[in-house]
Amino acid sequence: MRIVILGAGLAGITSAWECLRDGHEVTVLDRAQAPADFTSRANAGLIAPGHAFAWASPSVPRIMLRSLWRNDQAIRYRPSVNPRQWRWLAQFLGQCTADNARTNTLRKTRLCQYSQSRLHSVAQETGFHYDRNTGGLIYFYRSSQSFEAAAVKSEILSSAGIKIEALDREQVIARDPGLADARDEIAGALFVPTDESGDARAFTDALATRCTERGAAIHMQTEITGFSKTQDRISAVTTSRGEIEGDLFVLALGVFSPVLSRQLGFSLPIYPVKGYSVTLPADNAHLLPRYGGVDEDNLLAYCPMGNRLRITATAEIGSYSTRHQPSDFRVMLAKTRDLMPKAANFDKPDYWAGLRPMTPTGLPLIGGTRWSNLWLNTGHGHMGWTMSCGSARILADLIAGQLPEIPLDGMDPASTRKH
Ligand SMILES: Cc1cc2nc3c(=O)[nH]c(=O)nc-3n(C[C@H](O)[C@H](O)[C@H](O)COP(=O)(O)OP(=O)(O)OC[C@H]3O[C@@H](n4cnc5c(N)ncnc54)[C@H](O)[C@@H]3O)c2cc1C
Repeated sequence: MRIVILGAGLAGITSAWECLRDGHEVTVLDRAQAPADFTSRANAGLIAPGHAFAWASPSVPRIMLRSLWRNDQAIRYRPSVNPRQWRWLAQFLGQCTADNARTNTLRKTRLCQYSQSRLHSVAQETGFHYDRNTGGLIYFYRSSQSFEAAAVKSEILSSAGIKIEALDREQVIARDPGLADARDEIAGALFVPTDESGDARAFTDALATRCTERGAAIHMQTEITGFSKTQDRISAVTTSRGEIEGDLFVLALGVFSPVLSRQLGFSLPIYPVKGYSVTLPADNAHLLPRYGGVDEDNLLAYCPMGNRLRITATAEIGSYSTRHQPSDFRVMLAKTRDLMPKAANFDKPDYWAGLRPMTPTGLPLIGGTRWSNLWLNTGHGHMGWTMSCGSARILADLIAGQLPEIPLDGMDPASTRKH
C-alpha cells in the first residue's frame, strides 16, 4: 500500500519505520528543514515509564489557578481568547478526579512499558547512536513530606510492574556522585533502574535516514495545506509541492493535527502545552550526573546527553507560540547551577521552547477516523519520546488488521467521529 505520513517528528518517523517493516511504500511530508525539528527537537530525553503519572490530577486545578498571579508554578495557565483552549481545558479539568488520574496513569504506564520494549528492538535492529544512557532515572525530592507522599503515590506504578527503589539522601549520592553538591537539598529519591534516556532528535534523524535507505521518500520543506477527497476517502494531500496521492494517510502533526483535522470536519482534543529547554555543553563529561532525572519539587528535568546537559521545565497552557527569551530560563538555570554547579558550562546556554501535543488524558490517539483511509498517531503530550515506538507499532498493527499487543483503552479516536 502507498502510505503517506503527515509529519516527520517522533510520531511520524517511527510510524514510517513500522510501515516500511510491514512492506508498505512510504512517503513522509513535513514543512520543517529536517526531521524532529519542532516539538521532538530538544525535549528532556527521558524514557520514563517510571514517571508515567497523568498530569490531570486532583491537585492540578489549584496549581493552575495559583499560576494566574504567581509565576513560579510548574503548571501555568495563560488564558487565551481561543475558544478551543476553553473547550480543551474543560475536558482536561474533567479528567482531574482521583479515579480518572488512576485510570489514565495505568493506561499510560502500559503504553510506556510496551513502547520502551519496542524502542529496544528498533535500537538493536538499527544500531545507531543517540546518546542513549541506560541504568535508571532518579526522581528526587527536597522535603521529607513530598518524598513520603511520592512513595505512597508511586504504589500505582509498582502495581503495574515498575520496579522502584526508595533511596535516602546518602544512597542518592552514592548512586549518583554527580549530585554530591546537591546533598543538602535532597531529602530522598525514587530510583527506577529500568528507565533510561537519549537524544530524541538524534534518534529521529537517524531513523529517518534508515527509512530513506529502506526506500521511503521523505520530503522536508513541504507545507501541507489541505486534502482532496472523494466520498469518505482522501485521495491526495495538497502541499506546497503540489498534490501527493496515496492509498492511506497518517496524521502525525503534533499540535497541528487538529488544524488539519478541522478541514476534514472533525476536531481533536489536542492543545499545546509549552515547555522550556536549555542545553549546556559539558566541558568535563565526567562531572555530569550519571543518570538523568527530575527535581520533583520544582518539576525540573535534567539529562546527561553525551557531552551535554539538557534541562527542561514548565508546562504552560497558553498559545501556539514557541517564542522565548533568556529571562524565561533564569530560574531553571539558577536551580540547576545550585544542584550541579560543575556539571556544565552555564555561560553557553542553547535555549529552546516546544509545544507538547496534549490530550486531556495524556494518552495519544491511535487508529482510524471517520475517513476510511485516514489514520491518527498523534497527541503524545509530555511523553511522546517514551511512547513513540510502541504507538507506531500499534498503528502499523491496526493498519494490517491485526490486534495490537496491548489494549487500546483511552487511545481509540472513535470519539472524534461524534464531532
Ligand atoms: C520541554 C519538553 C520536554 C519533553 N520531555 C520529554 C521527555 O523527557 N520524554 C518524553 O517521552 N517526551 C517528552 N516530551 C514530549 C515529546 O517531545 C513530544 O510528545 C513529541 O516530540 C511529539 O512528537 P510529534 O511527532 O507528535 O510532534 P512534532 O515533533 O511536533 O512533529 C510534528 C511535525 O509536523 C510538522 N507539521 C505541522 N504542521 C504541518 C503542516 N501544515 N505541513 C507540514 N508539516 C507540518 C512539524 O513541522 C513537525 O515536524 C517533551 C516535550 C517538551 C516540549
